[in-house]
Amino acid sequence: MKYISTRGAPQELSFEEAVLAGLASDGGLYIPCSIPSLPADWQTTWADLSFQELSYQILSLYIAPEEIPAEDLREIVREAYSTFRAPEISPLRKLDDKNYILELFHGPTYAFKDVALQLLGKLFEYFLQRRNKGKTGSERHRITVVGATSGDTGSAAIYGLRSKADISVFILHPKGRVSPIQEAQMTTVLDANVHNVAVSGTFDDCQDIVKALFGDKAFNSTHNLGAINSINWARILAQTVYYFSSYFAAVKQLAPGTKLQYVVPTGNFGDVLAGYYAKRMGLPIEKLVVATNSNDILARFWASGKYEKISSEGPASNGAAEPASGGSDGKQATDASGVKATVSPAMDILISSNFERLLWYLAHEYASNHPQQVEGQTAGQIVNSWMKQTKQNGRVQVPVEVLELARRDFVAERVSDPQTLATIESTYSKYSYVADPHTAVGIKAAQVVTPQNPSDVVQITLSTAHPAKFSEAVERALQSHSAFNFNRDVLPEDFRDLLSKPRRVIDVERPDPELLKEVITKTSASETRPDHAASASV
Ligand SMILES: *Cc1c(COP(=O)(O)O)cnc(C)c1O
Repeated sequence: MKYISTRGAPQELSFEEAVLAGLASDGGLYIPCSIPSLPADWQTTWADLSFQELSYQILSLYIAPEEIPAEDLREIVREAYSTFRAPEISPLRKLDDKNYILELFHGPTYAFKDVALQLLGKLFEYFLQRRNKGKTGSERHRITVVGATSGDTGSAAIYGLRSKADISVFILHPKGRVSPIQEAQMTTVLDANVHNVAVSGTFDDCQDIVKALFGDKAFNSTHNLGAINSINWARILAQTVYYFSSYFAAVKQLAPGTKLQYVVPTGNFGDVLAGYYAKRMGLPIEKLVVATNSNDILARFWASGKYEKISSEGPASNGAAEPASGGSDGKQATDASGVKATVSPAMDILISSNFERLLWYLAHEYASNHPQQVEGQTAGQIVNSWMKQTKQNGRVQVPVEVLELARRDFVAERVSDPQTLATIESTYSKYSYVADPHTAVGIKAAQVVTPQNPSDVVQITLSTAHPAKFSEAVERALQSHSAFNFNRDVLPEDFRDLLSKPRRVIDVERPDPELLKEVITKTSASETRPDHAASASV
């Protein structure tokens, strides 16, 4: 299987090249040349496989054995999921006859990003080991992973890459602006190759620094920067697996002929895109429900066919605000860029980077249905022009036929903060189930779309985080329940002593890319000298 860019660049990459590159050089995202279909007997031969074996079967449809031999791929998958606390990896919980929850938070950082980043870490390690066989010292191929985080991605990346040979990891977070648990999760990892950088500034400042470093050709080629953000193809691929595992877990409990629908809380459109690949491969899914918070660019797209960066309520009304602080009084803080701070902060985005991949498939089908309207343009050329318009004007309007294609597979719903908190409360009252605010966005969206569904549809809502990670929202939503005790009922043992563990963090006093370059150059030099432990602070 080869990989191509969504923006039409002619190069075809191997899986390894696509995974190590992250973003394509024309600014596009990598997609497989074609979507493989399932083996004819998958419904029977895959039905009782473990998550790991299922993962191997699905991954091997996208990765040729000449690239990663079968035994190696099996081992990569086995090791990737050895860190999970649940034997099923992603257990399916029944709320009632019509509603199930797919729990994706049983990995090391208690968020669904572990499913993808544990695998990505193993793949990076495998590719580097293979390239470095028999090589020593400066001959060795090294990569420096640099990423910005507002909380979840950073810790999942750190746990995926800790102690991996030939990989240095620098994760930037806005100092004092991630939750105390998230900060502790990241900074208590003391492995020599892991470097947390606390930047005095906002999350956007951190992202701008990362962009500047990736854009600096000289720095990038010296340090061989690697990206772990959600546009990496391996992350999408890893996430297709739990659609299959939950399908098998569900059909064993349901009447024959029952239809399944997946409801996915969404930010960058990675998780739900994985469901789209599963559906296109042949997994029988009724509809994929895109559930957004008030950062609702996707819900607005499905309503209008307009993909528009500026929020429909106009620009910021009250200046800059702390992330993850909004919603307490029903009014939402909006930062200078227009992102609203919600109680589901991992979905606080302005644009959804993975949406471009869906646009490619829509453009592809549209072009083959309407060759005269597209005047010979390829899907890549169409996506390229849509993305240019989005960049220049902040919006693009797709033809109505494209919107209809999008509506064939998806519906989208927006959920407000008050609705999210009310749903945490009602889910607890009704089912004694404590949902995190991201999961609650999904549960609410499932309720809203229920009347449109045929009566034989059962919905599976993806649960993307453990409720203990978002304690403030959960405690607020459940404050009227005197029998509920957060520490006793929700807080995992691992979190109890996390706050008092030793930490290592590098403070950077200004959001300045030059300062970061200095930190990375100095720190990685000392890291590769075995006689020097990485410096504690600069
Ligand atoms: C990242 C994240 C999401 C959004 O996932 P996407 O793949 O970006 O749509 C939802 N919930 C939680 C808890 C997350 O960390």
